[in-house]
Amino acid sequence: METNIVINKPSPKFQDVSIAPMHTTEHIINQTMIRLFGCSRSISAHIERKKSKLDYRLAACPTEEEIEKLEEAVNEVIARQLPVTTEFITQEEAQGRFDLERLPDGASETVRVVKVGDYDECLCIGVHVENTSEIGTFKIISHDWDEEAKRWRMRFKLV
Ligand SMILES: [Zn+2]
Repeated sequence: METNIVINKPSPKFQDVSIAPMHTTEHIINQTMIRLFGCSRSISAHIERKKSKLDYRLAACPTEEEIEKLEEAVNEVIARQLPVTTEFITQEEAQGRFDLERLPDGASETVRVVKVGDYDECLCIGVHVENTSEIGTFKIISHDWDEEAKRWRMRFKLV
């Protein structure tokens, strides 16, 4: 069977193994944001090897306490040493389980699901670490809030 994989945001950059720890952390942060704030996955992402940036649409600016909680929660998940696994399913099977709105027109029938243990699953073609034990410690470097856009921008690194 020919598999032509698709993703929300196709980018050859996500095939770069050197950013696999950062990119895998992005998956964990997204799920943690959903659980803590009831928001969606990031609206914009800039993943680099040393420093990355994620934007979220929120109702209000998170408090320092909430931001601390986010950092702790992400590190707690990383510390669980969860396996990162992939699975291929049809677009039909993905209906209702994933947001398919951002799939490009003419996307292939088969989509790739990436799971971080039983904590998170999403559609992605990127390169990930095999286990969260390879990630290190997640640290939020800085953040800012755009009241007009209701956008929270967070910059982070792995130490
Ligand atoms: Zn990914």
